[in-house]
Parts: sequence; structure tokens; C-alpha cells
Amino acid sequence: MMAARCQRTSHSATPEMKTLLLDDEPFELQLLEHHLRRLGFDEVVACRSARAALDLLPGADSGFELIFCDLQMPDIDGVELIRHLRELNYPGGLILVSGEDERILLSVEQLARSRGLNVLGALRKPIVPADLAEVLLRHNARRDAAADAAAACDYAPERVAAAIFNGELVNHYQPKVDLLDGTLAGVETLVRWQHPHDGLVFPDRFVEVAERSGRIDDLTSVVLAEAVRQAWQWRETGLDIKVAVNVSMRSLASLSFAELVLAELERAHMPPSALVIEVTETALMQDPRAPLDILNRLRLKGIGLSIDDFGTGNASLAKLRDIPFSELKIDRGFVHGAAANRLLRAITETSLGMAKRLGMTSVAEGVEDRSDWDFLSAIGCDQAQGYFIARPMPPEDFPEWAADWQERRPGLIACPAGMAV
Ligand code: C2E
Ligand code: CA
Ligand code: CA
Repeated sequence: MMAARCQRTSHSATPEMKTLLLDDEPFELQLLEHHLRRLGFDEVVACRSARAALDLLPGADSGFELIFCDLQMPDIDGVELIRHLRELNYPGGLILVSGEDERILLSVEQLARSRGLNVLGALRKPIVPADLAEVLLRHNARRDAAADAAAACDYAPERVAAAIFNGELVNHYQPKVDLLDGTLAGVETLVRWQHPHDGLVFPDRFVEVAERSGRIDDLTSVVLAEAVRQAWQWRETGLDIKVAVNVSMRSLASLSFAELVLAELERAHMPPSALVIEVTETALMQDPRAPLDILNRLRLKGIGLSIDDFGTGNASLAKLRDIPFSELKIDRGFVHGAAANRLLRAITETSLGMAKRLGMTSVAEGVEDRSDWDFLSAIGCDQAQGYFIARPMPPEDFPEWAADWQERRPGLIACPAGMAV
């Protein structure tokens, strides 16, 4: 019975991605199939009901690599189908299709991602070939990136441990500047691995390995010790700035962490107020009590605490409630392009309002161009960080950047009063 509602169509064109189309409206189904055929899709199965589609998807080995799913369907709707796909461990790509409001599409997309599905994008009906081609292009790019990332994660824990102990990690620093007048407010320390063969390796390729293999505390101490030493050196040359260090929530599981931080500051004769700890969370904490204890103690000593990636799933409001943060970093995913996007703008402005009401310094990360800068300046954000100002750099490049910045500053601070935001 189900098979009668599913039409199997084979085409001779090259892409061999086995694709499932799901929509209760026959016209939309035919149109999508037509567009895909013109793009050279080889094997397309069109289904008019989610039940029929689920019969074709018995498990991870069904062979489907791509599913286009309409959200609005009479029996099982798109949201429910997402749950079933999760239960079936569907490994392929998912493209959501809907004639509904854009926000519904975006939020279902988010939901599917949070369930671990590989969402390639969302398409508004009526589907136009250009949008379809763009989503598919993105799919291929992501597939390549995922393959790169998989290959990139291949450092063995022993190799990462050796890098930590052999002094192969180096700190780069990215400036945070005041949006009001462009003065340098501080720097964020971003660790890199100067690999003897692979060149400069970025933290996404080894920080998680260190976390998973119980080496994150060692990594943190090495980065922290060097950052504090560098801050002291800058201070000696008259540059009195705050230095921020990223600390994963996992490092906050051992109660000795606070002692380690205080000892490093003391050794370098630096006041606690010179240090900011940016708290990043990559995994759910098993016991949230230890971090609360440590962070509260550090704050009491005068060390700055920053809630990193604010607005993303990991940086929740509950954390704001429980931890006395002094700084809020608005995640770059909400910052770049916010001036021209209603949704991003609302999130950025709300985060900023929250920081203000709680007396926290607001920092926007991912400031990539002049319009990001002007927007943040107009809404009264305190500090900006991002490629527009400077990329992370080794400390020896800092004086040259600072000199360039002095020249750029005057042209940036004159944001016309009353500018429409
Ligand atoms: P994060 O803390 O969110 O750091 C900001 C990341 O955004 C950095 O990537 C930085 O290079 C990049 N970035 C800065 N400005 C821009 C911009 O304008 N546009 C874009 N697209 N990106 C920008 P990076 O250095 O690759 O670091 C990635 C993450 O690794 C950091 O994210 C942080 O969570 C983690 N990390 C870095 N150093 C450490 C460390 O010492 N310890 C721990 N636990 N994590 C670290
Ligand atoms: Ca950070
Ligand atoms: Ca961030």
C-alpha cells in the first residue's frame, strides 16, 4: 500500500546521491523533482506521506544520502519526522522545505541540528532553482569541510600531551578595543601549536583532544603562565591591558585550579584585575558545583570572568544566574551582519541590554567589517574584537599593529549621532 504512494524514478545524470523527497502536495513534489533532475540528480524517490518515507528508511543503511522534507504534512509533520530520523540514526543530509514563516523554518532547522541531524539548509516554497543550487553547493562544501575536520582531528592524545610538555604551544593575542574611542582595552589569548612538520595548528584540532584525554589542565597552565608573563612584559613597556585566557569548564573540575591561577599571578607580580578568564563550555558538566566554587573564589579575588559565546546553546541564562560574570561576550554568530538582519540584530541588542542591566562589560566578537563596527557603536556596546580590528597575532607583531591602529582610530570613532540602527 505504501509502495503505491511512492514513485521511484531513475535518471541518467551523474550525481549518485540517493535522494528522498517528501511533500504531500503532488505539484510541489514534481517541481522539486524536476529541478533536481535538471541539476543532474540520478536517483530520486518521491513520497507523498511521511509514513511511506519512514517505511523506506529502515535504518542507517537505507542508502539515502539526502532528504528534502516539507514541514507541513497531514499525518506525520516535519517536526515529528525529525524525531523519527534521529531514532533511525539517519546519517545523511536533511533539507527542510516550507511555505511557512521564515522564523518557523529557522527554528525547526535549529531543532533538527540540536537532535544531531545534518541539516544542510532550509528552502522557502515555491522553490526556485537558484536557492536549491545554493543549498546543494553548501552541502558539498560542508562535506569537504567535514572530511577535512575528520582528517584534522587525527592527532593522537600522546602527541598532544608531548606538544604541551615540549613547549610547542604558542600564544597568539587578539585585541579587544573600546567602541567609544578605539582605545585598546585588552587582548584575548588564543593558543596555537607550532608543529614541527604541520606548521601552525589551530586549537580546534587539539584542544578537544586535550580535554578528552585529561590533559586540559596541563594545557591551561602552560597557556596561562605564558599569558601572565606576557602581560607583565607589556606592563613593563607601559602597556597596561587586561589579558584574557580561555578556560574550558572541564578545567574547573579540580578545586586546585583557583590556587594555580593565583600562584601564576603572584609569580609574575601581576594584580588579579589584570586577568580575565573566558569560560567556554564544550561539554555538559557532570558536577556543576566545583566550577561554581572555583569561579566565585576567583571573582572574589578580583579576577575578571567572562561568559564566552553568549547566546549559543552552551552559554545559557542559568550560568548567568549562578556565576558572577563581569563580562559578556556576544557570540560572533550573532554579531557579524547584525546590522542588516532583523533576527541577529534583536539577539545582539537583547544580549547587550542584559549585560548593561547586570553591570557587565559587553564585548562583541566577530566584528568583521565597518558596518558591524558602526552598528555596535550605535547600540552602545562597550568593546569589539574581530578581524576588522585585528587577527590574532604573535606578541612580536603587536607593536606594529598598535601603531597602525592609532592611525585608523580617528576615522572610526566618529559614528554620527542619531544614526538609524
Ligand atoms: P573563542 O574563544 O570563541 O575564540 C574566538 C575565535 O574566533 C578564535 O578562533 C579567533 O581567531 C576567531 N575570530 C576572531 N575574530 C574573528 C572574526 O572577526 N571572524 C571570525 N570568523 N572569527 C574570528 P581560534 O583561535 O581558532 O580559537 C577557536 C576556539 O578555541 C576559541 O574560541 C576557544 O574556545 C578555543 N581556545 C583557544 N585557545 C584556547 C585555550 O587556551 N584553552 C581553551 N580551553 N580553549 C581555547
Ligand atoms: Ca574566547
Ligand atoms: Ca566565541
